[in-house]
Parts: sequence; C-alpha cells; structure tokens
Amino acid sequence: MTEHIRHSIVNSKRIVIKVGTSTIMYPNGAINLQQMEKLAFVLSDLKNQGKEVILVSSGAIGVGLARMSLTKRPVTIPEQQAIASIGQTELMSLYSQFFYHYGHQIGQVLLTKDVTDFPVSRKNTVNTFEQLLIKHVIPIVNENDTVSVEELDHLTRFGDNDTLSAIVLELTDADLLVMLSDIDGFYDKNPMKHTDATRFDTITDITEDILALAQDSSTKFGTGGMITKLNAAQIVLKAKKHMILASGEDLSILFRILSGEHIGTLFSSQ
Ligand code: ADP
Repeated sequence: MTEHIRHSIVNSKRIVIKVGTSTIMYPNGAINLQQMEKLAFVLSDLKNQGKEVILVSSGAIGVGLARMSLTKRPVTIPEQQAIASIGQTELMSLYSQFFYHYGHQIGQVLLTKDVTDFPVSRKNTVNTFEQLLIKHVIPIVNENDTVSVEELDHLTRFGDNDTLSAIVLELTDADLLVMLSDIDGFYDKNPMKHTDATRFDTITDITEDILALAQDSSTKFGTGGMITKLNAAQIVLKAKKHMILASGEDLSILFRILSGEHIGTLFSSQ
C-alpha cells in the first residue's frame, strides 16, 4: 500500500462498517452476544477517538429466527418479512443496550433503494444521517424489509447489505467502508473450496476478469457472496473513496485497520 493511501485510511474521519450475519450469529443459529458486545465496544472506542461511525448491520432474519425458536427460514416472502420485523427490533434492542453500556446512543435508519432515485427522499436521508452524526449518535442501518419490493417500475429492494453499505458511504460522503465478512479478503478463487487460493492485496479497478473470480459464491447465512461485495466496491471506487474487505472474526481488526496496518483487501483507485 502506498504511503498516501495508508495515510488517508488512518485519517479517515467518517467510516461505514458493514457486518454480515455470520459475524454476529453462531453457525448454530443463536446470537453471538460476545461479538455484538465487542462490536459495540470497538465502535464506541473509535467514536471516542473522534471518528464518526455508521454501522450497517445484517442479521434481522437470523435474530428473528432465533427469537421465534425457528431453525429454518420460512419459505414465503410475507413470513420472511414478519421474521425480519421481529428480528430487527431484537437486534436494535441488543445494540442499544451494548452501545449504551459504552456511553453511546444509537439511531435506527431503515432504507429502501428508491431513496437514491428521488431527490427529496435522498435529501431527507442525507439530512437524517447528518443530524444523527452532529448529535454524536451512531446510526445503525438496515434495509426496510417490510416495504422493499422488486417490481418492474418500482424497485425499492437493495437485496443485500453490501450494496446498501456502499450507498450509505455515498450518501454520507464517508471516507472509508470496512466490509467485515467470514473471509479475510478477496481471492483469485473461492478460498473455501480451493486451498491454493491467493488473496489480493489491493484492487484498483473492478474489471470483467475480477468479477469472473467471484462467481463461485456459496454462503451460509448471507445472501450476498463476493459478487455483491465487488458491486459495492465499484460504487466506492466511483466515489473515489476506499473500501477494505476483511474478516469480522476478531473485531479489534478495526483498530488495526485504522492504525494503518495492511489487512484484508484494499479497494482503492488511487
Ligand atoms: P458475509 O455473509 O460475511 O457478508 P458472504 O458469505 O456473503 O459473506 O460471502 C463471503 C463468501 O464468498 C466466502 O466465505 C467465500 O466462500 C465466497 N467466495 C467466493 N469467491 C470468493 C473469492 N474470490 N474470494 C473470497 N471469497 C469468495
């Protein structure tokens, strides 16, 4: 990583952090309280350091299933939306308690894709984020599952929180998106299936060749896989900002990233 990129990452003022379901849930479907508390601790401390942090958290359906003692995702969309509604409340209740413990207030922001299509919706969203940040509140963002649809003339669904987190970076003019996943970076082939896969250090452009390396996505909880992470990176690069894809297993990785350690895969056009 060249010196000036390292410098701008260390000096990032406004940071969007995206966590996948696998970061905050155990593989057995139960909530990983240790991870949630650690996330609140790390983000609160970054806030205390003077950073502005915005969390994009998946997990509403996972937490909803756990809450309702279900082991499988229901098949129908209405049932999934109901589970997400239950899980979202529980998720925010847990975050609220953990962040409160470390002295910070959170605010929930639920978005649909059309906020970027309509200038007034966009402005309202931008204003909400700005006011929350001015008030030193940590916004926690998720897709509004109840109303999001995928109709022909009415597309309001992001579909995945990877894209959503990149759009949040754009809307808030944040400097850096840290995408925490169950994998520690972007590889030349799926490392879960190929032991000889090699991790990319830095990617400066999302070319067709790069996109082809992400086709083989198999996900346990997540709906994104690598394709959606590359789509997010594309939005970030276009905005001339930075994105780091790293492992969410040990959340103190955020401290290390922001102290300039070279971790994960950096997406930067500079
Ligand atoms: P999360 O739910 O944490 O957001 P996903 O499970 O959606 O993450 O996506 C990460 C998964 O993508 C990895 O566990 C890996 O199996 C898969 N994958 C496919 N191709 C690649 C690649 N080229 N590099 C890294 N991971 C890949």
